[in-house]
Amino acid sequence: MRIVFLGAPGVGKGTQADRVTAQFGWPKISTGDLLREAVRNQTALGLEAKKSMDAGKLVPDSVVIAMVREKLLDRSCEKGFILDGFPRTVPQAEELGSILRDKGLQLDRVVNFRVTREDVIKRLSGRRSCPKCQSVFHKQFAPPKIDGQCDRCGSSLVQRNDDKPETIEARLQVYDAQTAPLINYYEQKGRLSHLDGAGAMDQVYGRLSTLLSGLVNR
Ligand code: AMP
Repeated sequence: MRIVFLGAPGVGKGTQADRVTAQFGWPKISTGDLLREAVRNQTALGLEAKKSMDAGKLVPDSVVIAMVREKLLDRSCEKGFILDGFPRTVPQAEELGSILRDKGLQLDRVVNFRVTREDVIKRLSGRRSCPKCQSVFHKQFAPPKIDGQCDRCGSSLVQRNDDKPETIEARLQVYDAQTAPLINYYEQKGRLSHLDGAGAMDQVYGRLSTLLSGLVNR
């Protein structure tokens, strides 16, 4: 299955994508994770992207498209993938369509996670991330076993620069202006499913897993 997860920052796309990978085996391609890795490794791309990321703005289309193209052409994606955080603009969506078309493929589904603005802000501001293994926790909704420490690798958890209150607002504005138009874009292509992203992680996963199982067994 070739799937895109769409939705505002903080709706839970990344966490849910990890669970889909565990159940269905399709690898997750997260442009946010790839960019943070480049920042950590201090590559030229990472140093350039950091400025936009810290300001809550989007990294230029050409940069993320090149990154995603390389991943999509990898053998690990032969049986499918979940794109988390890409596409985020109409030009990115067009480019994705063309990369897939060149391989005789198309997207199976775009899942649009719906969560109220109030909940998105709560989820983003309480989020704590592991800078080493990228695991994600939430102070209130998914606390680590030991306060401030990653359950998976033991590293100290941090608040991402772009999860700080002053940047959250900027990211949501960018989402409204540049990413939300993709809902219509994919609706018109008949590829969109809406998913209620409210409630506990397990509840949301229950809905998502039912939706995806339905697609697999079609
Ligand atoms: P995320 O972890 O998906 O919230 O992404 C974190 C940040 O990485 C975003 O706020 C952007 O600065 C950048 N980013 C991630 N994906 C994209 C994309 N598809 N296009 C442009 N910038 C992106």
